[in-house]
Amino acid sequence: DLLVVGSANADLVIGVERRPGAGETVLGSDLAVHPGGKGANQAVAAARLGARTALLARVGDDGHGRLLLDSQRAAGVDTVGVLVGGAPTGVALITVDPSGDNSIVVSPGANGRLTPQDVRAAASLFQASRVVSAQLEIPLETVVEAVRSLADGSRFVLNPSPPRPLPSEVLAACDPLIVNEHEAKVILGDSAVGETPEDWARILLAKGPRSVVVTLGAKGALVASAEGVTRVPSVKVDAVDTTGAGDAFAAALAWKLGAGSSLAEAAAYAARVGAAAVTKEGAQESFPTAAEVEAR
Ligand code: ADP
Repeated sequence: DLLVVGSANADLVIGVERRPGAGETVLGSDLAVHPGGKGANQAVAAARLGARTALLARVGDDGHGRLLLDSQRAAGVDTVGVLVGGAPTGVALITVDPSGDNSIVVSPGANGRLTPQDVRAAASLFQASRVVSAQLEIPLETVVEAVRSLADGSRFVLNPSPPRPLPSEVLAACDPLIVNEHEAKVILGDSAVGETPEDWARILLAKGPRSVVVTLGAKGALVASAEGVTRVPSVKVDAVDTTGAGDAFAAALAWKLGAGSSLAEAAAYAARVGAAAVTKEGAQESFPTAAEVEAR
């Protein structure tokens, strides 16, 4: 089984002609409210593919929290680990201009109250999970506790987003660390970043993870481990909306690894899932079923 430890947000989206300046008010489109947050997205993406998936997260005792619980349950995610209360549900306030550019303000809310104690209280979920997948929209100490809570023989997958420097204890547990170009650069910090994605992958691997996956958008991905660096074939699609592609990729990869695939096989499958996710609008709404992945 797959356990996702991470964030759950309500995405509040308004289309605007242009963004307001300080002290200014502009009128926008009708409000659209979507379930989001990287943890919630990964759990839905995995469950839609057919993975037995549980989510460990925290939402508020409010309408947004109920929206998130409903979307998880509709996808078939086990929500016993979704804790309620302590702060309002996390929110992303998103304005989108006519050119499609986003401006986003995130209020972490309840995500910031998912504590190491919450992780310890979920020990039975960790014991039941072959793979644990996390991101960084929750406190870093909570991610550290998740690493310490892994069952013997289970695997930890991390997408360090939003990126920040990571303690060596977390880096050493990652198998793989999944980064895009921006995340790679932040994690590498002052170390020489090299010229090519292959260079980043090699330098990241030298920092301690057991394996590294670098995602390259339309150019696909590459995987790096002790066996070397290999390219994952990219999948050609007409991209409509790339929101959530990284979450779908990470979820698919984690599920396939748990099912026994090699890293290269799992990444090739994840690239097909990520590609499918960019052919539809939205995040969770765009995630494919396994049958839809096969049909492409
Ligand atoms: P993030 O959203 O985290 O920046 P990417 O944009 O690299 O991540 O997307 C994750 C994966 O989804 C990519 O490695 C690729 O496999 C797939 N993907 C993303 N955008 C496209 C695209 N335009 N065409 C095909 N595949 C894509």
